Amino acid sequence: MSNNVILIRFGELYLKGKNKDYFESVLKDNIRKKLDGVDCALHFGRGRYVVKDYAEETESEILSRLKQVFGLHSVSVARRCGYPLDEIAEIALQMTPNSGSFRITAHRSYKKYPLDSLQINKQLGERILDAKPQLTVDLHNPDYELSVDVRENGDVYLYDDTVRCAGGMPYGTGGRGLLLLSGGIDSPVAGYMLAKRGMSLTALHFHSYPYTSEAAKDKAVRLARILGEYCPTIKLKCVSLTEIQETIHNKCKPNYMITLVRRFMMRIAQRVARQNGCGCLINGESLGQVASQTLESITVTNAVVDMPVFRPLIGMDKEEIIEIAQKIGSFETSIEPYEDCCTIFLPDYPLIKPMLDKVCEQEKLIENYDELIEKAIENIETIML
Ligand code: ATP
Ligand code: MG
Repeated sequence: MSNNVILIRFGELYLKGKNKDYFESVLKDNIRKKLDGVDCALHFGRGRYVVKDYAEETESEILSRLKQVFGLHSVSVARRCGYPLDEIAEIALQMTPNSGSFRITAHRSYKKYPLDSLQINKQLGERILDAKPQLTVDLHNPDYELSVDVRENGDVYLYDDTVRCAGGMPYGTGGRGLLLLSGGIDSPVAGYMLAKRGMSLTALHFHSYPYTSEAAKDKAVRLARILGEYCPTIKLKCVSLTEIQETIHNKCKPNYMITLVRRFMMRIAQRVARQNGCGCLINGESLGQVASQTLESITVTNAVVDMPVFRPLIGMDKEEIIEIAQKIGSFETSIEPYEDCCTIFLPDYPLIKPMLDKVCEQEKLIENYDELIEKAIENIETIML
């Protein structure tokens, strides 16, 4: 058993006032679920949580799992000892390096401790200087900073490193949204960003089997699983667009293909959202990235739905999106080369600035519009993740 502990700090929840208890109870539950299967003890105190009594070799696993829990601000691995200053000093001495400058920063939540924070800083500092006279104290810009937390439970924690976690709000506290999940780079990132603000996700993937392969669908499944590392209750639904695309291809002008498909997608998505208790749609559009993401295109595709459509990437460059995709672990899967349904029957010159009345004229050529949507939704497939 390791004598180390992991200190967990949470972020924005302190802004929550009277609702804080609710947010904290969801957060605690998410931490418990995330650490399920790892042998350890969780202590939830006021303001800070601690993981104790775990086997040394599971420490890095616990840390990487905690980094995937939204609502956590940072974690630190700390060494643990009792109250006597001799014990604290012994560990502090082991931890401080042998050259450069240092500072001790003590916090004392146990107010009855015989020394106050300043006295702890001073007395520990003196002991360190006695043992390592080559060191210097620098209170403003030290090379090394050692934090010492004196807790009420008889424990003292010493740590010198703080690792940032995902931040955001606890998953499940921000309503439920339907994520349009393609196999590309952008949509998993878009989902991640809303989930980070506490939104539960249901994912919806469109495919055009057999024009698109089983492998393309499998890629969406794997991306949903990657999101599942952060979003414990994520579900994936798959809808076939094959018949819809064939119909558009047969009846409408080729350069309207993408616009018309996207309007079908949005209509279907809104229906699926309502069926699954989702209050909004989320997609990975970024302004101007491709023809279907100009202001005019977005206006025309947005016109068929009335629930909010969140586009968290709208103002981001591809490079910035890729950086997040790499950080959350979806990038390598996203760049596997499988066709997306949007690339089927692709015209040579897609419309960059579609006009709503012209688009509606094209749509009128599809007499069985509603029936096609009905059928696509009837055949929806729910994938176990
Ligand atoms: P992505 O990288 O997310 O695939 P993209 O840059 O390829 O995005 P588009 O193909 O124009 O852009 O798609 C824009 C958004 O529409 C996607 O981010 C996604 O939310 C949604 N979308 C596109 N294709 C599909 C699909 N096959 N299934 C579900 N949603 C899709
Ligand atoms: Mg795409």
